[in-house]
Amino acid sequence: NKTVFHFGGDAPHDDPRQKDKTVTGGKGRNLAEMASISLPVPPGFTIATEECLRFLKEGGDFGDGLRSAVDEALRHVERTVGKRFGDAADPLLVSVRSGAAISMPGMMDTVLNLGLNDETVQGLAAASGDERFAWDSYRRFIQMYADVVLDLDHGLFEEALEIAKEDAGYYNDTEMSADDWKTLVAEFQRIAEQELGRPFPQDPSEQLWGAIRAVFESWDTERAKVYRRLNDIPHDMGTAVNVQAMVFGNMGDTSATGVAFTRDPSTGERAYYGEWLVNAQGEDVVAGIRTPQYLTSARREEAGADKPSMEEAMPEAFAELARVFDLLERHYTDMQDIEFTVQQGKLWLLQTRNGKRTAKAALKMAVDMVGEGLIDEKTAILRVDPMALDQLLHPTLDPQAPRDVMTKGLPASPGAASGKIVLDADTAEKWAHRGEKVILVRVETSPEDIHGMHAAAGILTARGGMTSHAAVVARGIGRPCVSGASQISIARAGAGEDRTLTIGDRGLREGDTITIDGATGEVMAGEVATIEPELAGDFATLMEWADRHRRMKVRTNAETEEDCKAARRFGAEGIGLARTEHMFFDASRISAVREMILAESEAGRRAALDKLLPEQRGDFESIFRAMAGLPCTIRLLDPPLHEFLPHSDAEFEDLAESTGIAVEKLRRRAAELHEFNPMLGHRGCRLGITYPEIYEMQARAIFEAACNVAADGEAPVPEIMIPLIATRRELEILRALVERVAGEVFAETGRTLDYLVGTMIELPRAALMAGEIAEEADFFSFGTNDLTQTTLGVSRDDAGRFLTPYVDCGIFARDPFVSLDIEGVGQLVELAVERGRGTRDGIKLGICGEHGGDPASIGFCEKVGLDYVSASPYRVPIARLAAAQASL
Ligand code: PEP
Ligand code: MG
Repeated sequence: NKTVFHFGGDAPHDDPRQKDKTVTGGKGRNLAEMASISLPVPPGFTIATEECLRFLKEGGDFGDGLRSAVDEALRHVERTVGKRFGDAADPLLVSVRSGAAISMPGMMDTVLNLGLNDETVQGLAAASGDERFAWDSYRRFIQMYADVVLDLDHGLFEEALEIAKEDAGYYNDTEMSADDWKTLVAEFQRIAEQELGRPFPQDPSEQLWGAIRAVFESWDTERAKVYRRLNDIPHDMGTAVNVQAMVFGNMGDTSATGVAFTRDPSTGERAYYGEWLVNAQGEDVVAGIRTPQYLTSARREEAGADKPSMEEAMPEAFAELARVFDLLERHYTDMQDIEFTVQQGKLWLLQTRNGKRTAKAALKMAVDMVGEGLIDEKTAILRVDPMALDQLLHPTLDPQAPRDVMTKGLPASPGAASGKIVLDADTAEKWAHRGEKVILVRVETSPEDIHGMHAAAGILTARGGMTSHAAVVARGIGRPCVSGASQISIARAGAGEDRTLTIGDRGLREGDTITIDGATGEVMAGEVATIEPELAGDFATLMEWADRHRRMKVRTNAETEEDCKAARRFGAEGIGLARTEHMFFDASRISAVREMILAESEAGRRAALDKLLPEQRGDFESIFRAMAGLPCTIRLLDPPLHEFLPHSDAEFEDLAESTGIAVEKLRRRAAELHEFNPMLGHRGCRLGITYPEIYEMQARAIFEAACNVAADGEAPVPEIMIPLIATRRELEILRALVERVAGEVFAETGRTLDYLVGTMIELPRAALMAGEIAEEADFFSFGTNDLTQTTLGVSRDDAGRFLTPYVDCGIFARDPFVSLDIEGVGQLVELAVERGRGTRDGIKLGICGEHGGDPASIGFCEKVGLDYVSASPYRVPIARLAAAQASL
């Protein structure tokens, strides 16, 4: 198989493997594709991902085949450009960049200006007629190569540059003269030799293979692995390498470099968006060393910036760029994220890809593009990541709330968050782990900070633009971010010392609460009130399309009036699970619950249950009213009784007082109720079998509530669900109990209502015996939390200790309590569906475990033909969209 693909010049671009990004990576594929539609792409070649995998497998050997293919490809680039690699008179220089199928921070990024050495730099100076440019390029090359290929501490080089500027009294890099750069190059070479123990490599071919090696090896760095793990990217894809002729954005004031989006990636607005720098090379924009300028005049004016926009400073190159934007959007039918360089007035494209975007922007673009006729409704539905909707469903700052604004940075990723300041990623992770909300505050972020960014509720940086690392990552993971808040300065305090910072003129320390608003860039002291998100507009439109294309219904897991209302606003079509035990923990009831549990006789239990009856009836009435005519699955008591027991002395004393039973006696009874393995103990339907009066009370409360609500002209639809069934007989007994109570209540009230009795399928035996159990069940709801726990024999409450290493080792692809183990547990679900339907055609089937809100699991539910999924209120829109995607 061919593993080196040429692009640009007269290279053919029709090899199907070159168009396959699993072979050439996203970057390589798109470079070839742009070249094939005659866009200005500097010529180059792509080394396929399989070479990376082979190299890693064979312990760092390139192989002769690769060597000769690369040589030949390099000759092609030389012929196209008309320069030779390593030519002392007029050298070809190249960039070397990684490019996996899925874009991935953490891998080796870029080496520019490769091919320069003490001789070729002279040739570059002579051929370009620009000595300063040649030496600037050379120092950049040494700096980048030392950092990313030789793995030397980049701080050493940055420091040397800072000192050089300081000594000369300069503020910007652009003030450095040719001689200044020459002196610095010598200093860089000295540093490199000292650190390496040998001279900085002069041979261009050695430089090239060194860079290719570094790209290959970067696939397996810890950072890259962490990123893959967090994003469910397989470890066996490998990265491609792109080697491309250099074009120069640092050839004076008619040259520039920039990053641009065809639409605004934050808001989705149809307006060119981006940043550029005159007389600079690519990394200057991203690294936040110089503050980039705006691309369009409109933006510049809006921001009140004084440096000219590209539109103003380079109108011709800008017009060409705008033409390319439109072409690319039409070609890819999606928003593009582009890297470009202008060399002496001529525009070159270095990269295009589908741009990362906020959820808000994804939504707006999807809806707008349907309106523009660029895509159809189905494509729009598939364009929006259901999980990303999460970002839109969370609160934003209340505009009325008072704000104590300390400073303002760039609005890098929307949403608002309050939390305690933490100054490094490890602390962020640690504090978040113990349940604190934290804001990660850094000078700037790098891939080493990713875990802390995930743990944080928001990210605030002192440096960097809208396309800085912090901004890009935050948008990707849906965290609010304010970047480039230059009035922040962070003190470096050692361990054990107070870790402090100043924001403007205020002194703060780690642990102080602040609020950031990623929509405005404001940074505020303390916590600021928030308001609920807007669910109209584009969100409503996309949801409407999703609803039109989905088959499964979406219900919610809720038991409070507030949650029911939120879920309905989010589009829930019923309740899939009301956990009645949640109603028992209420402060006003817990003592009656405890009295019931600790009673030694049925009479004692009944007396306590009588107190609970009116309370439960009230709960159910408010549920039926809030859900107005939608089906409500109410589950009878499920958890082991010991979960309700008093713990502290004070709790025992309170209970003794309210029941008149001696503390000692209560303690003895509590000890009797102790279980060694309560999740497999006295819980679920076993409570109903042994203490039928509990389920009787609950059934009575449900039917009385339904009759009361019906009396007001509403139409409650109760579905009574029995938990933890393992056998048909259990359900038969409990169904009879429910039917008897229903009959009693109907006789008392003179009102008859339709209702269903069904069960959860949450034990392997229940799944296996679903055919028999269906004889007694009007519906099944898959309780995949317990079904996962019991099928895997993994405790859902204790798995935290070993699940991460299990996922890391690839034993589980994902946490099986988050995303259904389709291979294993999925088989039981599928089997129960088949057997249940075999007995009772049309039996209603749903899922109410956490997996009901997980897009991958929802895909599986669609496949096996469930009637509905049930998710927590905030996940309802996610489930609606995921269900639509699953049925497309
Ligand atoms: C389940 O087991 O999946 C379920 C929904 O019930 P619970 O989480 O309350 O045990
Ligand atoms: Mg359960």
